[in-house]
Amino acid sequence: MKGMMQHRPLLISNILEYAAEAHPKCEIVSVRTEGDIHRQTYPQTLKRVYQLANALKGLGVELGDRVATLAWNGYRHFELYYAISGQGAVCHTINPRLSAEQLIYIVNHAEDKVLFLDTTFVPIIEGVKDELPSDLVYVIMTDRAHMPENGFDALCYEDLLADQPESFDWPEFDETTAAALCYTSGTTGNPKGALYSHRSTVLHALMLGLIMGSSIPQEAKVLPVVPLFHVNAWGIPYASPLLGHSLVMPGGALDGESLFKLMDTEGVFSAWGVPTVWMGLLAEIKKQGRKPNGFSDVVVGGSAAPRKMIETFEGMGVHVGHAWGMTEMSPIGTHGNMPKWVKELPFDKMIDIKAKQGRRAFGVDLKIVDDEGNRQPHDGKAVGELYVRGNTIVSGYFKNDEATAKAIDAEGWFGTGDIASIDGNGILSIQDRSKDLIKSGGEWISSIDLENAAMSHPGISNCAAVAMPHPKWDERPVLVAVAAGDDKPSLEELHQHMSEHFAKWQLPDDVIWTDALPLTATGKVSKLTLRQQFADYKLPDLR
Ligand code: AMP
Repeated sequence: MKGMMQHRPLLISNILEYAAEAHPKCEIVSVRTEGDIHRQTYPQTLKRVYQLANALKGLGVELGDRVATLAWNGYRHFELYYAISGQGAVCHTINPRLSAEQLIYIVNHAEDKVLFLDTTFVPIIEGVKDELPSDLVYVIMTDRAHMPENGFDALCYEDLLADQPESFDWPEFDETTAAALCYTSGTTGNPKGALYSHRSTVLHALMLGLIMGSSIPQEAKVLPVVPLFHVNAWGIPYASPLLGHSLVMPGGALDGESLFKLMDTEGVFSAWGVPTVWMGLLAEIKKQGRKPNGFSDVVVGGSAAPRKMIETFEGMGVHVGHAWGMTEMSPIGTHGNMPKWVKELPFDKMIDIKAKQGRRAFGVDLKIVDDEGNRQPHDGKAVGELYVRGNTIVSGYFKNDEATAKAIDAEGWFGTGDIASIDGNGILSIQDRSKDLIKSGGEWISSIDLENAAMSHPGISNCAAVAMPHPKWDERPVLVAVAAGDDKPSLEELHQHMSEHFAKWQLPDDVIWTDALPLTATGKVSKLTLRQQFADYKLPDLR
């Protein structure tokens, strides 16, 4: 027997309309590329979203079309989220830190129709435009007075909006319709697309709302330092309007000094981002001898939060939520809002627990399995590969059956590539990574891609790219290489040789020459042995 309740589609357009009605005083405060601070309320935002939706229609955008964004965190990027998805098109956020090669790949793979970009990224597009679709329409996200010269006939964002009607009838469609697309380079080879639906996005907003609701009061200011181009800024642009938070958008200035100033003047209550960003902020807090005005809550995710960082924040009265997730999970998997018994532990013991990745969000199932796929107990001792299941987790990758087949197991669970244990209280502890990748400042570098590029140099006969710990970037890549002859290439020469395929920040910090690489029983290079062998190694900038 079925329940007798109405069934209304869960659509993203409903979120902003609700926020404008229920939280009309809350604002989006943005540091603009124009150089000033801009403020608008949710009702004002909704009007501009209607105008933008009309403008997109005028550009010929239809249901299912992909519309790309290449932009910092700001109100215009937020408007695009709602105007694109609201009318049934797909908001494809592009990470500007990708290499030119990856950027060209994803715009072509996604078959984007329109690309919206901040003025900052005009030079990136100048460099790749000849390899992007010839009918791609470009829109620069600024007003007429600030339009930069460009060689791709770009339209102007504010011109597009001007004179458009301040109302729009959102179409109603099935809640499983695609809403947003984000490529991850968190695997080897070409980036893979996670295609979120309206249903998954709204459910994720509700899930995240449960977490935020227990630690952030209504009308507090929330700062997503995590970019809107990174898994929908962890879902904050959908959850915070529902909860009645004001959003503070930092633009491109993510250094400690700029963040401190912005948080201090705006009285930001809660800030969200990767550990690298918080290292910068903590250095500034130390310099100033105080924390920013009103700063009470920080969410650290994307990479493991160092114990010392958690200790320092908690020591100054800033509650730390250590979260774990993935692009493929919308992204929240687990979070560090702890029950009363943890808060009552002695400080050191409490920090021990906070250094773990927390408990699962409602709606996310976790299992750990051994090499044969057998489930392991959640006893805090057994370690295995972590698999996840739920309504906010990908069922496959966009237009990529091969990658989909590799990612999903026979029972339909998604393999995260993380190695973990889960204790009897459901607290997750990430121990290692089975994927051969390096995560620097919250962004991925493929070890295998680095190795292939380095080995195409005639001076190298074999090599391995390994992650070396770095206090600011968390990890930095280093090449351990066997020379092909007496003539060893310098690091600069290798950089030059590899630079075609990588962004500058992805290139190795050092090359260590060795006579032979340690091998595993199956003949693969043993990264574990290498990590042990170079346990005392110090990166050049730390010596
Ligand atoms: P991404 O899809 O780029 O967000 O990367 C997701 C991956 O980042 C996860 O599979 C983990 O390997 C890593 N990660 C994210 N959050 C954490 C965390 N809190 N601790 C350790 N690793 C993390």
